[in-house]
Amino acid sequence: MRAARYMPVPPDAGDMPGAELRADEGKVSALLDRGKLVVLTGAGLSTACGIPDYRDREGRWKRVQPIDHQDFLRSAATRRRYWLRSFFGWPVVARAVPGIGHRALAHFESLDRVALVVTQNVDGLHQKAGSRGVLELHGTLGQVVCLACGGRQSRATVQEWLGAANPGLAATPIAAPDGDAEVAEALAEGFRVPDCPACGGLLKPDVVFFGDSVPRTRVDAVMAAIDAAPGLLVIGSSLMVYSGFRFVEHAHRRGKPVMAINQGRTRADHLLEAKVEQDCGEFLDALRQSAAQEGRAAPSRRRPKEVPVGRRLSGEA
Ligand SMILES: [Zn+2]
Repeated sequence: MRAARYMPVPPDAGDMPGAELRADEGKVSALLDRGKLVVLTGAGLSTACGIPDYRDREGRWKRVQPIDHQDFLRSAATRRRYWLRSFFGWPVVARAVPGIGHRALAHFESLDRVALVVTQNVDGLHQKAGSRGVLELHGTLGQVVCLACGGRQSRATVQEWLGAANPGLAATPIAAPDGDAEVAEALAEGFRVPDCPACGGLLKPDVVFFGDSVPRTRVDAVMAAIDAAPGLLVIGSSLMVYSGFRFVEHAHRRGKPVMAINQGRTRADHLLEAKVEQDCGEFLDALRQSAAQEGRAAPSRRRPKEVPVGRRLSGEA
């Protein structure tokens, strides 16, 4: 019967296989219930939306390393390669629609359970899903900035410039049309990159490339948000990049619980109070559905804190 789903964990649950894993699911659920949570999201949340992930389950590079900041500044050839790949990769990002995980987080924000989404992703999918408290740690692919005058353009506008400067290229068949497509060097050779129309300066996507640093104001804003939150929940990130990992260290130093929903190893495994090794979108969606059911079934009743979510996700639900 339905009421069974709200039973507390049996006293002998610790002896049952998998009980520890289910307890971790319950801990994540309970942390969300405390409200005003800061979440840190990574590529794992967007892979279901067709945005490629850079690292495998062990945190290793899956393919060629992304563009290096200094290389981009110094080398016209690097810029040509970047913009050529981006010419084919951008439409994928522009067309991508948010997944169930993005939508669940927007829903949790509307319930005041999530105060701020800090994302390492540059795809804009949290905003598309309706989240308003979003801090894009590594910037956004949706904007392009001039390094000389600071002028900004939408990426969609720059896509038109790229197309106009390279007529016929759009018809070129590309085998792997993603944001980091391995495009033949031969194509990059003749690729024309437009400069800033106002001052002739270099155009750069408004993202933090590898080797560059996240602006201090962004870092400080995240630290302050964590100080005001009951804890930090990491979603779909291996935390291999220090720009994200430092927030786990900060939360840990402040005695705030840090938990993660991530398939595979993270750099912070030793600092985590709980870890759910499941598809982060599916798990967040299950949490959202279970919260909605709870709201309908018993609006005045609080669920006991340590109910394992896994049970509610299973056939009993
Ligand atoms: Zn300019």
